[in-house]
Amino acid sequence: MPNDARTSHLIEGDTGSWEIVIGLEVHAQVVSKSKLFSGASTEFGGSPNAQVSLVDAAMPGMLPVINRECVEQAVRTGLGLNAQINLVSVFDRKNYFYPDLPQGYQISQFTKPIVGEGEIVLDMGEEGEVSVGIERLHLEQDAGKSLHDQHPDHSYVDLNRSGIALMEIVSKPDLRSAEQAKVYVAKLRTILRYLGTCDGNMEEGSLRADVNVSVRKPGDELGTRCEIKNVNSIRFIGEAVDYEAARQVEILEDGGEIIQETRLFDPDAGETRSMRSKEEAHDYRYFPDPDLLPLELSQDDVERIKAELPELPDARKARFMRELALEHDVAERLVADRDVAEYFEALARGRDANLAANWITGELFGALNKLDLTIDRSPVDANQLGALLDLMDDGAVSGRTAKDVFETMLATGQPAGEIVAAQGLEQVSDTGAIEQVVDEVIAANPDQVEQVKSKPKTLGWFVGQVMQKTGGKANPQTVNDILRRKLEIGDDQDQDS
Ligand code: ADP
Ligand code: MG
Repeated sequence: MPNDARTSHLIEGDTGSWEIVIGLEVHAQVVSKSKLFSGASTEFGGSPNAQVSLVDAAMPGMLPVINRECVEQAVRTGLGLNAQINLVSVFDRKNYFYPDLPQGYQISQFTKPIVGEGEIVLDMGEEGEVSVGIERLHLEQDAGKSLHDQHPDHSYVDLNRSGIALMEIVSKPDLRSAEQAKVYVAKLRTILRYLGTCDGNMEEGSLRADVNVSVRKPGDELGTRCEIKNVNSIRFIGEAVDYEAARQVEILEDGGEIIQETRLFDPDAGETRSMRSKEEAHDYRYFPDPDLLPLELSQDDVERIKAELPELPDARKARFMRELALEHDVAERLVADRDVAEYFEALARGRDANLAANWITGELFGALNKLDLTIDRSPVDANQLGALLDLMDDGAVSGRTAKDVFETMLATGQPAGEIVAAQGLEQVSDTGAIEQVVDEVIAANPDQVEQVKSKPKTLGWFVGQVMQKTGGKANPQTVNDILRRKLEIGDDQDQDS
């Protein structure tokens, strides 16, 4: 589906504007205890070659046996991307020589992938929504890893990764800016995490992207692309796109030509560098793997997996806005991480949803950011924070005091109620006590009393005085009411409190 003109981002050059075109090939490691064609473990961080079966080491005569769990994960992912599920797909051998590939070929899918066309909708904020087509998703084996830093003149190989299932998810060239490419990968990662089909951990390499970039004059045919291999952070994807697009525009404006090639992104230098040109590209000599039958799924299997799908981020966002009256941007922030969405739902249950959302996106995110923790490791869980919101709701603590209590909760892990009791932080709602302080303030400040009659907005000053004298513990609403009554100021006036 084409993008709206309003979502195109143009780079200005000497000869006018250029449009960036991006398509991404994302490799996502499948969540599964064992590998795609063997029973060896997929656990991250094992000692080298501790998780290698005879199949993964490509011993002669070993035969691959497909792992049902990996197949179901691919189907689940396809359904989550609103994609066509192909009931018959075929595994092919992709032949190339590399020291970390003991078979001499990778088992992949070429002409008949398990998942066909789908779609991801990006929420670009003010720009609106952008629909990005998915071309295909196929299953393939990962390769091993060469270790060049273990011996002065030998290289070693670690085959733990060899044979682990990957999903390659290929987008159409529908992305038009670095920002869109970043939002696309973030959204895809969110969906995969909701589905539980890939942990999305880019630092461990569970998710990495090949970034295809070209530029053209708006309305022209697609330009020649360069492919930037294996970019492993969302920030780097954005930097790689911007650098690469600018590089291509400069060449074209100098009358040059883009040569289709594979490039690498160097994060330290912030630039892409040539790796190999199209002429040096591999001829993979794909052919169907004779050791594997075509993979057949029944429609019943697909329906069963579909029925078990969790609620996905877009549906959840719509529900938060519809049922809990959250603003669009707030809902978007809360659903972007499944753990955050779940924390929010627990906190909002039976409480003011917008107050819950404000506390999460404000105080809690601020605290987690400082502590460098993700929400699943938050020192204050949804129940504990809920108890604090309940104290506010009961009028037992003011909003200002609640923030201090929250700081103490973070530091000590003590429940809100205990902190409030131990430190004597209960809000004073007892009108008698407050009235006494109000009388004192009024008596001591005749000039301000004169002024407030003609300028009701200065009432805020009185509220401040009373709050100060009560150590911030008076209920501000009660203070306001009593002041208005005593100073004979109507309720219909604007108040500054
Ligand atoms: P290959 O497998 O050789 O890399 P594909 O045709 O499968 O080639 O395309 C790979 C990726 O390149 C896809 O994500 C596609 O959207 C993207 N792509 C194709 N043409 C262009 C282009 N002109 N500019 C940017 N991206 C492109
Ligand atoms: Mg490619």
